[in-house]
Amino acid sequence: MNGEPDLLVGGTWSHASDGGTREIINPADGSVAATVDEATADDARRAVSAARTTFDAGTWPATPVAERSALLARIVDLLERDKEALARVETLDTGKTLVESRIDIDDIISVFRFYSQLVGVEADRLIDVGDPTVISRVVREPIGVCVLIAPWNYPLLQMSWKIAPALAAGCTMVAKPSEVTPLSTIAFVRLAEEAGVPDGVLNLVQGSGAVLGAALTDNPDVDFISFTGGLATGRTIAKVAAEHVTKVAVELGGKNPHIVFADADWESSVDQVLTGVFLHSGQVCSAGTRLIVEDSIADDFVAELANRAEKIRVGNGLDPASETGPLVSEQHRAKVEAFVELGISEGAKLVAGGTRPSDPALASGSFYRPTIFDRCDRSMRIVAEETFGPILTVERFETEADAIRLGNDTEYGLAAGVRTSDAARGERVVRALRHGTVWLNDFGYYTAAAEWGGFKKSGNGRELGPTGLAEYQEIKHIWHNTAPKPAGWFKGD
Ligand code: NAP
Repeated sequence: MNGEPDLLVGGTWSHASDGGTREIINPADGSVAATVDEATADDARRAVSAARTTFDAGTWPATPVAERSALLARIVDLLERDKEALARVETLDTGKTLVESRIDIDDIISVFRFYSQLVGVEADRLIDVGDPTVISRVVREPIGVCVLIAPWNYPLLQMSWKIAPALAAGCTMVAKPSEVTPLSTIAFVRLAEEAGVPDGVLNLVQGSGAVLGAALTDNPDVDFISFTGGLATGRTIAKVAAEHVTKVAVELGGKNPHIVFADADWESSVDQVLTGVFLHSGQVCSAGTRLIVEDSIADDFVAELANRAEKIRVGNGLDPASETGPLVSEQHRAKVEAFVELGISEGAKLVAGGTRPSDPALASGSFYRPTIFDRCDRSMRIVAEETFGPILTVERFETEADAIRLGNDTEYGLAAGVRTSDAARGERVVRALRHGTVWLNDFGYYTAAAEWGGFKKSGNGRELGPTGLAEYQEIKHIWHNTAPKPAGWFKGD
């Protein structure tokens, strides 16, 4: 970064083999936040090869669980020490407010802490096969060489959901952050090195997914690919990996319903529908972008949302007065603007936002105002497709069955919210929704101890929780006969 080498392969930091670099843009003002090395496909192949050699040497996978747990705990300490610096890097790179970045780093710390503890208590399973001379046990072993690919919206957070369990399990890995937001991952890998991660265990390449993708995923040396990003890229990776029968976990997009019944608590519902969709300017996989509201309260509810959305203070994430930051890039803002145009042409009723902010102080950043479309329906592309920006669409329902039907009427299934003061109804609806996380009278919260992932086209596999560790482990059944005797089938007579 800024002249320092940014690629880590087999314990050695280096520049890109062809000297290539990339400017990382601060989306709040268009300035260059840093210049980083841009890996070539050869660099990526070298990184996979280093991870393979390190794994096959056997020392790291055989490191006692207590030592791996202690390493994760040291990472926790260093993250605590560098929390503020890392949060500032994340804000410079993604544009999100410093408050949001600090929450990200706290969450990252909780993930490393969770896996440092979990790995120490996981035990092998003994099975009674009915023969006292046989010891039958099921053990977990590290899956091997992992390729970890993360998106730009929660750069270090998403990467930590992969690196922490991979280290805990005893895997070796190659991390590839998004080309748009690599800075916090580079800083983290330096920190992990300081914590004592052995050479070759954690390798780092950053650069364009289009250039590095095949080297990282179409590669027989890789045992597991953990990918978080968009549906199209996830499909490509899954197809390529199938050639090698490489295990793949893909965490993809969402089009998440937030269902509000007329008896829901008004104040918390208004508040959380707004945070659910406009936090980080809507660039959140689990953003509650589809409000599905009971018809009897819809007019008043939408009027209140529009009123408050107009007052959300958009601005530079480093300014404590800002309530939400810019979109990640000019290109991404252009995509969001195209969706707004589309919504208008599809006949949705624009009731808030719909333009860039007029404040001249924000003219050089990629800001966009929180936008609400009322009178939407499922035939509209703005309702069906992930816009990944600050756009809320509103649909109305009359019966519980309608609410469930609408909530499930999406090709995705990542997350959903339900708001009602009727506990029995809440439980019925929660169980009927086909989404990986469902919040009842809350929205957006998660914990390192509970699994995260999607139904349907939101992906497969799970991160976080015990399952998030199991993704990085192979299961082996060992049958040990302590008193062998002939089976007696083929006696040779
Ligand atoms: P993306 O374009 O799919 O990129 C994700 C990552 O894949 C980036 O590091 C990208 O590198 C890399 N990549 C691109 N093409 C590749 C290829 N052919 N082979 C291997 N890697 C490749 O997604 P994004 O725009 O960064 O992220 C937004 C998406 O992520 C949204 O759909 C969002 O919902 C989803 N997301 C899901 C979750 C979840 O938990 N389910 C969490 C966060 C985000 P480059 O950046 O260099 O192109």
